[in-house]
Amino acid sequence: MAESVFDTFYSKFVETIQDSDLVHFEHELALSLEHHFFASKHGRKDEWDQSIAALPNVKTDNYRFDQGTVKIGDSTELEIGLSEFEDQLKRFMPWRKGPFDLFGSQIDTEWRSDWKWDRIAPHISSLKDRQVLDIGCGNGYHLFRMFGAGAKLALGIDPTLLFFYQFQLLSRFLPALPIHLLPLRGEHLPSFGQFDTVFSLGVLYHRRNPIDHLTELLGFLAPGGEVVLETLIVDGDRSTVLMPTDRYAKMSNVWFLPSTDALVVWMHRAGFKNVRIADINQTSTQEQRTTQWMNFHSLSDFLDPSDHNKTFEGYPAPKRAVIVADKPG
Ligand code: SAH
Repeated sequence: MAESVFDTFYSKFVETIQDSDLVHFEHELALSLEHHFFASKHGRKDEWDQSIAALPNVKTDNYRFDQGTVKIGDSTELEIGLSEFEDQLKRFMPWRKGPFDLFGSQIDTEWRSDWKWDRIAPHISSLKDRQVLDIGCGNGYHLFRMFGAGAKLALGIDPTLLFFYQFQLLSRFLPALPIHLLPLRGEHLPSFGQFDTVFSLGVLYHRRNPIDHLTELLGFLAPGGEVVLETLIVDGDRSTVLMPTDRYAKMSNVWFLPSTDALVVWMHRAGFKNVRIADINQTSTQEQRTTQWMNFHSLSDFLDPSDHNKTFEGYPAPKRAVIVADKPG
């Protein structure tokens, strides 16, 4: 029986936070993990544990997180052939967020998550020496970019177990770095009041109660801290909010798509100030697409085949805004 990755990840996280104020939340986080995570079963957990244990036992100091492709190691450090290694990595498909270059293996993910980062990075306060939190971080692609941009601690949370395993897979090749992923939901976290920057990218529309989500984000921030929100929006004025009657772009878990003006109202009412719209972008089928690392349907299958400005269901096609705002000091 392979050792479970769960047995080790929390102690590594606890070690890192000993010198920060987050140490006060150690017990509360442990209880939350106990309650929401360790108690839950997942059908592929044993299989993933075995696949992690079978990976090459190599650690590298050769990494770069300040470029579009998050790069860890190169092919000369690997004691097995590249195609054998890629077979191992493909056991963790679908790879959605990236791209990564892992010991020369180019993981061409469903999303060009680097494009999202490029739309965000010019508009936010420098991350140098900041403690940052990424709610709904997927496999942690943006956590690596945040650390690469100078953050002193990059903590992510995401409840999807596969993404937690992908993050463990990537981290096991690296030295101990202050980059962590806890397999939790935003609603399961304490109101830290500590983080300098809090990110919520591509999460708000998955929440049944978006105002609660914004209130939680405010609670995670230190006074004067910055929130960076990225979410699906629609055209319209401050009274426009689309609630799909059923699926949106074939996703069953999409609840509210506000206009940017409506979102600004939500942000103010949740308690943020200095709310600014940094970017608006219609998602292209080059940014989100099927690849050999994610061979399910992707954006082009979710759109109206005769009009890519509409979803399959006839709603406006996915358009995303980046909003930056401050917590009052
Ligand atoms: N932030 C990444 C991933 C967005 S995909 C990016 O922008 O590229 C949305 C992610 O939110 C998924 O990984 C999903 O597991 C996670 N998620 C869904 N509900 C959540 C919740 N309540 N709290 C935290 N994360 C959640």
